[in-house]
Amino acid sequence: MQDYHIHSDYSTDSEQKLLGICEKAVEQNLSEIAVTDHIDIDYPYDLHFAFDFDARSAEMDAVQKNFPSLAIKKGVEIGITAETKKDYVNIINAHPFDFVIASVHVLDGIDPYYPEFFVGKTKEQAYTAYLQAIDDGMRDFDDYDVIGHIGYASRFYPGENRQIHYADYADILDSILKRAVQSGKGIEVNTKGIETTGDTLPNESILKRYRELGGEILTLGSDAHSADRVGDAVWETAEKLKEMGFRYYTSFTRRKATQVKL
Ligand SMILES: [Zn+2]
Ligand SMILES: [Zn+2]
Repeated sequence: MQDYHIHSDYSTDSEQKLLGICEKAVEQNLSEIAVTDHIDIDYPYDLHFAFDFDARSAEMDAVQKNFPSLAIKKGVEIGITAETKKDYVNIINAHPFDFVIASVHVLDGIDPYYPEFFVGKTKEQAYTAYLQAIDDGMRDFDDYDVIGHIGYASRFYPGENRQIHYADYADILDSILKRAVQSGKGIEVNTKGIETTGDTLPNESILKRYRELGGEILTLGSDAHSADRVGDAVWETAEKLKEMGFRYYTSFTRRKATQVKL
């Protein structure tokens, strides 16, 4: 089993050392992890989201020697907008990443993490705007492997019934999911949504639609920013995915996908 969304202290919003991540991964019976530190070009807040690839790579190689049963993949989570996505192409190609998550963290200059994002918007308007930003971000953009946490904004909605249900946003979700399937890309199943929304991001209704559309490439990730959440709920989520009809999760090495039986 994998956890393909983990932040280390190379992310500006995490203080977690790689060693602790790997120890917890072994404790959780994982066979592989991807450390996916942040790069967010033009992130509009104080935190500077970028990291030293070469320093991290050297540290990962050193730590790997202590964990022969755990494959430690060199990942990155790029925070894209329609305006910045092309700026990532050179960065991605300049470094030997195993795995790239493309996520939307900012739209209209605001990260939905901050309450101001929801001011003056209904839930439907906020969610539509978020999904539209994913759709715009992915259009004419190929330099990624999976779309990160579809539904990220729903974690922060200041009200009840936070989940994004497929039927309420079918057209825009179909646009996102069909493009992913047609272009050989995947989506991640992010377990960090469970605590706040009651389901993964994306939730079951969207995952079922992805399956219907022929989607087979998917990764499981905790989005841990500290070791205690590494591997969180990935085994249970894998069982749910099997019940939905998925047969595989996807492992990446130097950006090449391999399907692994669930
Ligand atoms: Zn993210
Ligand atoms: Zn993340």
